[in-house]
Amino acid sequence: MSKQRENGEKRSSVERYILKHEIEKLEAKRSFNMSTSLVTLYIPPGTRLPDITSQLKDEYGTATNIKDKSTGKAVQSAISSILSRMKNVTKVGENGLAIFCGITQGNKVEFFLIEPPDPISIKLYLCDHVFHIDHIKDMLESKTRYGLALVARGGATLAIVQGPRLDIIRDEDSHVPGKHKMGGQSQARFQRLTEEAAQRWYGKVSEMMNKVYLEDFPVEAIIVGGPALSKTEFLESKDIDYRLRDKVLGIYDVGYTGEIGIRELLDKAKDKLADFELVQERLLMQTFMEHLGKDTGLATYGEKHVKEALEKAAVETVLVSEDVDRVNMELRCDGCDYSTTESVKTKEYNNFSKELSDRKCPECSETKMFIEKETDLITELNELAENTGAQLEVISTAHEDGSMLYGAFGGIAAMLRYKLYDGY
Ligand SMILES: [Zn+2]
Repeated sequence: MSKQRENGEKRSSVERYILKHEIEKLEAKRSFNMSTSLVTLYIPPGTRLPDITSQLKDEYGTATNIKDKSTGKAVQSAISSILSRMKNVTKVGENGLAIFCGITQGNKVEFFLIEPPDPISIKLYLCDHVFHIDHIKDMLESKTRYGLALVARGGATLAIVQGPRLDIIRDEDSHVPGKHKMGGQSQARFQRLTEEAAQRWYGKVSEMMNKVYLEDFPVEAIIVGGPALSKTEFLESKDIDYRLRDKVLGIYDVGYTGEIGIRELLDKAKDKLADFELVQERLLMQTFMEHLGKDTGLATYGEKHVKEALEKAAVETVLVSEDVDRVNMELRCDGCDYSTTESVKTKEYNNFSKELSDRKCPECSETKMFIEKETDLITELNELAENTGAQLEVISTAHEDGSMLYGAFGGIAAMLRYKLYDGY
């Protein structure tokens, strides 16, 4: 996660997957002697890099006052390590940064830099025997960002929802007069003016939506709600950007605007939203199956073939099952330099690293085994994909197509830009 992100770049399923694994690893870390020497640093967006540097230098000085000298030294080496790594950081980024550093079980300084998926809301510097990950762990819940729009003649409310978070972005009154005016000779004229005002209002709401949902907070899909007639009238308006129109996932009757209305809309659309991500995944798998079925030569599968295709920059989209979660590790003994390689499932990583700290080296019988290098298979595939502009999608096994990817294709498949092999 040390790559710097450009503003507004879309977060893909793989980044969330990698972050989840990164957090699982962080959770397993303990300070080398259970002293309070692991540094957790949360930097909110908008922080200036020189301010972080000077704060760290202050903390370095303060650490000399720590009573236990070895703890003080360990904190200082963590801070030095952060300071030297910060030289490669060019900006804080739109969501801030989370940094974790210190001497862990393996008796070496480990450094983790995470660019979180949501903005960090606290400023925190903390030394403990564990890393404090709660603030970023909460963020894993939020997945796809959706737009919820309520449109009525009387007003409009635009909200976005992402995981457990719901934010009202705009809440406006229309000042369009009601449809009916009591009596009067100019009833027809009044109705015409009201109609025109309503059309102008819908035009204004369309513009608002285009800006909010395409520019300010790009969304994956939109749910539209409103009183029976208004929302239909609105959706007929020509001013809605066609890209937004394509994203309308559902339309529901909702009586009010404002936050109450938004909550009602969210409640009505809940099942549809839950299905949405799975639908996307299924479509990808179906496209892959179609290529195979029609023998277009534009589909391949299996770790070896997919890696080859990635290296030739021939891949459009990589599909990886979430159950493919292998971490390949190089282990080394600090007592005698014995080394070996092993791989575990990410879910077993925590237990593995605990077990490793008690494991006797087969050469010298000391308990000084540590992980020298580790690579997550999906991370490795993602790096290959990023280098050649390919997309990588993590596919869950919560549906039949996903289970098939894992069961029948070894969990790794790809759709190609051009034909690589003949007679596949
Ligand atoms: Zn050894």
